[in-house]
Amino acid sequence: MERTLSIIKPDGVGKGVAGEVIKRMEKAGIRICAMKMVRLTPEQAGMFYAVHRERPFFHSLTEFMTSGPIIAMVLEGENVIARNRELMGATNPKDALPGTIRRDFASDVEKNIVHGSDGPDTAAQEIKFFFNDLEIQR
Ligand code: UDP
Ligand code: MG
Repeated sequence: MERTLSIIKPDGVGKGVAGEVIKRMEKAGIRICAMKMVRLTPEQAGMFYAVHRERPFFHSLTEFMTSGPIIAMVLEGENVIARNRELMGATNPKDALPGTIRRDFASDVEKNIVHGSDGPDTAAQEIKFFFNDLEIQR
């Protein structure tokens, strides 16, 4: 069993597609074992995306991520890191395959509806950023 962190970003919550995103995860047999709605501060958004600190899109990205509430989730399942990334589609919705969340709902490369951890190390780190052990259902 593997775990990953998923976020429905402010555009996903604002467009009212949170239910559709969650439905796709459940239909794929992925278990949701933690969930919360939060609004990040600029400092928190900067910490979460610290790996992108030197990228030209960093400032705009952290502004976007603090523009409204987000829904953070811990997902569990076999190979769930890769399977969640498959459901999400490519970072740029123009490159994402038809039927993926980003192709179906995202407006551009920044406002792309969802976040998903990209590997076991980042998954563990990102889950800890949002949840403590007691908040994760076994
Ligand atoms: N992003 C952006 N411009 C870019 C690349 C990424 O605004 O050229 C944003 C986008 O919201 C993306 C996030 O930064 O989801 C993190 O980028 P990453 O390359 O890690 O993409 P992801 O793992 O989310 O597919
Ligand atoms: Mg990433």
